[in-house]
Amino acid sequence: MLLFNKQNKLTAHLNSVSNESTTIGFVPTMGALHKGHLSLLEESLKNNNINVISIFVNPTQFNNAEDLAKYPKTLTEDIAKIKMVSDGIIVFAPSVDDIYEGKTVSQHFDFDGLENQMEGKFRPGHFNGVGTIVKRLFEIVKPNNAYFGEKDFQQLQIVKKMVEKLKLKVNIIGCPIFREPNGLAMSSRNERLTNQEREKAAIIYKTILEAKKKFVSKSAKEVTEFVQREFIKQSDFELEYFQIADESTLFQCIRKSPHKKYRAFIAVFVNKIRLIDTISLN
Ligand code: AMP
Repeated sequence: MLLFNKQNKLTAHLNSVSNESTTIGFVPTMGALHKGHLSLLEESLKNNNINVISIFVNPTQFNNAEDLAKYPKTLTEDIAKIKMVSDGIIVFAPSVDDIYEGKTVSQHFDFDGLENQMEGKFRPGHFNGVGTIVKRLFEIVKPNNAYFGEKDFQQLQIVKKMVEKLKLKVNIIGCPIFREPNGLAMSSRNERLTNQEREKAAIIYKTILEAKKKFVSKSAKEVTEFVQREFIKQSDFELEYFQIADESTLFQCIRKSPHKKYRAFIAVFVNKIRLIDTISLN
């Protein structure tokens, strides 16, 4: 395993090891790695001979200072987990200064409206921050293939849109959500939950599974009201949003069309810790 903290050192190394017969697989993360992140890395290893994972808590995508300050940072443990997956992985863990060179600001992007839904609505500026860091990391790593989790489905669609609009030469591969045995989607933020909260948070996946069943015969509005009622009953949980949306545009589903694919999206606060999940509905 090789660890780089500086972009110029990483670029020099990648230039020295890549040629026409190599492909670079890339997994961008914010660290506090769990099995979900490692599943992306395993997917990358299957299809590329050079594999890079970045660990960088990107300040420009946080709209909440407390969330940024409390974001878990566990580089030593992360490196141990990466080594367990494979010895040959390249880790890029730069500082904020190395990436932003004194100007920690986002570029502005137009993602054809994808950025105004759900996470974009509730986390203003979030997707400009995501676009900025992903573009920057792509310029540094120059991956052939980049792996993103469906857990952050809106982010996955936004990255695909950015690649299409900027005509970047990278394949974006979406990977399935890895879950705890109780169904809770794995997340670095789960580390901040108590054991009891972690157990109770199974309600999030249970409710969206139930929503999926109901969507067969009920309207999006009826299913949304069902989910809202379920969370009113849960005093420890605060539902931020539940939205059924068209999978490609992410626009809210008002009237179901048999020709469209839909997905449910949810964001819930558990004791100030924000958890998200999503499920394909058809
Ligand atoms: P993060 O470190 O939270 O920014 O996540 C880095 C990447 O891992 C993103 O592409 C996420 O969508 C993906 N990811 C996070 N949690 C999971 C999960 N439970 N299953 C699969 N991928 C995940």
